[in-house]
Amino acid sequence: MSRPTASTSSAKDGQLRPTAAAAKAREPMNVLIVGVGGQGVIMVSKALASLAQSKGYQVKQSEVHGMAKRGGTVFSHVRFGPQVWSPTIPKGEADILVALEWAEGLRWLPFLKPDTGIFICDTKRIVPPFACLNRRPGAPLRYSRETPAEVRAQVAEAYAIDATRMAEELGNERAANVVLIGALSTALDFPAGDWEKSLAQFVPKKTIAVNLDAFRLGRSWIEEARTNPVVTEAPAAKAAALAHVPYSVRLEITPEWCKSCDICVKLCPERCLRLNAERIVELAQPEKCTGCRLCELLCPDFAIRVHLDSAVVAIAAAAQETKA
Ligand code: SF4
Ligand code: SF4
Repeated sequence: MSRPTASTSSAKDGQLRPTAAAAKAREPMNVLIVGVGGQGVIMVSKALASLAQSKGYQVKQSEVHGMAKRGGTVFSHVRFGPQVWSPTIPKGEADILVALEWAEGLRWLPFLKPDTGIFICDTKRIVPPFACLNRRPGAPLRYSRETPAEVRAQVAEAYAIDATRMAEELGNERAANVVLIGALSTALDFPAGDWEKSLAQFVPKKTIAVNLDAFRLGRSWIEEARTNPVVTEAPAAKAAALAHVPYSVRLEITPEWCKSCDICVKLCPERCLRLNAERIVELAQPEKCTGCRLCELLCPDFAIRVHLDSAVVAIAAAAQETKA
């Protein structure tokens, strides 16, 4: 997305007045980046802000990440241009919305420019605990049921990208945010090489190679999606099915990280956890676990991860059937 160059026209009084195009050229570019804690929203915004600044733009960035460590919403506004007055993007004024999580993307859609806004969203779904409130294991999740196809119909330009899976296939799930940076880079005028230099400043040194691969993958995926819309259909089928597909829960407990604080045991709504004889947490009643993820979000030592295993398998199967 490029801005027109500045120009002027002669007014009746003989003075030069800016044309609409010139006024447009002075407008900042507004990029909104959203997700949940731990996904790397802030890193995306820092890489973009740093790159824009290196090109001589005035940049303003504002972010909220209060409950990030507990799976809360994180968002960052990045505005850059010849002159930027306010750090926050008004509703309906975002040129690009980059979402690292599906429901967060939908939540922020009203901020996108209705006629020209570009929506780039990972189909990754992080189901919040309140989506399991009916307390029946395997019950349908109370989570957004809109499909990427439905969202695409509401937005000028939209891409639902399975960035997390792509990053996993590269060997580092955490590089999903960089896959999205690759996609974002195709909507701005900065050269790919400059993006890569900016990225290298913000990722851990030992992960630079995998992150550069992720960046190039995101870039090539979106370029292909522009010419071949079929590329975007598989994630659409998966996402459509998720809220309806039965799932089973698997808890991944890292015993060495558990410090026996008992928080998860006391706060599990189903009372299905306990400390064993070594005072390490274990799942005592797996049949009662709803997969609400409260234990994962509350554990101060990140000793528990909750996986909704069979949902993923069933959804992948559903996607295959849809394609067939
Ligand atoms: S064990 Fe964890 S995921 Fe399962 S019900 Fe309890 S808090 Fe929720
Ligand atoms: S909250 Fe974490 S550290 Fe505390 S008992 Fe549970 S798993 Fe162990």
